[in-house]
Amino acid sequence: MKPNSLKFRQTVLATLVAAACSSPAMASKTVSWEDILNDDKTTTDVLSYGLGLKAQRYSPLTRINTKNVDNLVPAWSFSFGGEKQRGQEAQALVHDGVIYVTASYSRIFAIDARSGKRLWEYEARLPEDIRPCCDVVNRGAAIYGDKIYFGTLDASIVALNKDTGKVAWKKKFGDHKIGYTMTGAPFVVKDQKSGKVLLVHGSSGDEFGVVGWLFARDPDTGEEVWARPMVEGHMGRLNGQDSTPTGDAKAPSWPEGPDGKKVDAWNHGGGAPWQTASYDVEKNMVVIGAGNPAPWNTWHRTKEGDDPRNWDSLFTSGQAYVDASTGELKGFFQHTPNDAWDFSGNNSVVLFEYKDPKTGKLVKASAHADRNGFFFVTDREKLTNGAGYPNKPTSLIGAWPFVEGITWASGFDLKTGKPIEKGNRPQLPKDGAEKGESIFVSPPFLGGTNWMPMSYSQKTELFYIPANHWAMDYWTEKLTYKAGNAYLGQGFRIKRLFDDHVGTLRAMDPKTGKIVWEHKEKFPLWAGTMTTAGGLVFTGTSDGYVKAFDAKNGKELWKFQTGSGVVSVPITWEMDGEQYIGIQSGYGGAVPLWGGDMADLTKQVTQGGSMWVFKLPKGFKG
Ligand code: CA
Ligand code: CA
Repeated sequence: MKPNSLKFRQTVLATLVAAACSSPAMASKTVSWEDILNDDKTTTDVLSYGLGLKAQRYSPLTRINTKNVDNLVPAWSFSFGGEKQRGQEAQALVHDGVIYVTASYSRIFAIDARSGKRLWEYEARLPEDIRPCCDVVNRGAAIYGDKIYFGTLDASIVALNKDTGKVAWKKKFGDHKIGYTMTGAPFVVKDQKSGKVLLVHGSSGDEFGVVGWLFARDPDTGEEVWARPMVEGHMGRLNGQDSTPTGDAKAPSWPEGPDGKKVDAWNHGGGAPWQTASYDVEKNMVVIGAGNPAPWNTWHRTKEGDDPRNWDSLFTSGQAYVDASTGELKGFFQHTPNDAWDFSGNNSVVLFEYKDPKTGKLVKASAHADRNGFFFVTDREKLTNGAGYPNKPTSLIGAWPFVEGITWASGFDLKTGKPIEKGNRPQLPKDGAEKGESIFVSPPFLGGTNWMPMSYSQKTELFYIPANHWAMDYWTEKLTYKAGNAYLGQGFRIKRLFDDHVGTLRAMDPKTGKIVWEHKEKFPLWAGTMTTAGGLVFTGTSDGYVKAFDAKNGKELWKFQTGSGVVSVPITWEMDGEQYIGIQSGYGGAVPLWGGDMADLTKQVTQGGSMWVFKLPKGFKG
């Protein structure tokens, strides 16, 4: 889990990069809030994680479409270099002819979008004792004004001048030695009350028992505006002062031990919002998934002698609605109460609207495909008006399985908003044994889907979920908290669920919960999807392909072998009258580190680290 020594390489690289950056590139246009607000409609740039504030990953571009996509050819490829490669999980940004893409080991590159030439590179000097749980990945950057922002594995966020790569400011937000880290892309919002633009980012570290925080900063200086811890009863901050506790100050969703004090887990309760937010402009709400409660062992968060189903471990493993002005938690829907499986709730929360088929009324909704195997549609109006707090059950519109063979619950009760559990929680060790009895669990903690974001087509009105069929043997283990050590209390072995496939790309109808089509892959799917008005869905595969599918029926229309596994997120943009597709190649992430039988399966995938850009051939007609 701990990456290898980096010092020597960093020293060499820092010298080389300083030399490469001695002649700064031409200054490009600055990025305004309006540019970001309209990102989903403007086709010449990609300025946000999610290709728009609603995170739909839908492009209105049609130049590349179902009829001609099989003609795509590489325009250029760029190597991130470095003798250690690891997983490349980022989504790139495009602005004024420049691509900004982050890479493994907290690196960021500015590349000429036309030629693939490097303009500048920045690599964070990482200490030896960082503790990333799930590979040394980075998922992307944010852009605003004249700056580019990204998080680093030593629990810091860095602002760089977008034209030169020079550091403008750097803020450390947590102690990396106890497990705080950052892998997600930051996000820019504008507080609709004060008119202030804010840089919003989360922390990671649930596997080490840290308390997860969401931060909002002044993008010019990096100064904190507000900060929100996700574990109930912990105190938030606003303008440098204590603000309000998260939920009830007494944290009734976390039990007390026999000594009358909160259980130890409450101090180390996780809930890290480590993925990227979406933003509801009308309601001025930052919408983000909260991570799993720590430790994984559910019995550490359950009153002795009680049933774990009576405890919730708020505000973890759910979708959170946070007021952009104050950082107050205004709404929350929990996908997995008292999560015993590391399902977490982090996967993207996509904002979308649809006409209710029965009433014809417009519904403002959120969609989320969870690691727990269920696809949730929630009522955004109810969750953002304050009445959704803390866990208003009627905000749940639908919860449907999007994978086969779910062992933990049979469905959700729409009246209570609670899962109908199947009685398959891991049990306490019997009679002083070190381990509890092993149970068979699907999906495993790697999830029915995971961090790789899904997309929503405004044309087909379907969601495209990069899903997986797999399982695990799972047992409870004894555990005490030790700072900087993994805080799990569970043992596991990842296994197959089906012989013929692991990955299953699935198209989900959010009005009915029907799977409209599926495409199976031999290897796990670990790349995000993007969909276009050209009727296409793009994604990548662990065995190295970038692929395009017909969004209507799932027919595979094009593929290209990139030389290493693809576990990143595709983008598209228009430049000089041509449409481009961009994606990174480079295998890694959680599967080869934690994946048991799946790690063995993917051993044959070679390492890499490069960005690929595709377009139709020059002068292509038709
Ligand atoms: Ca745009
Ligand atoms: Ca986790």
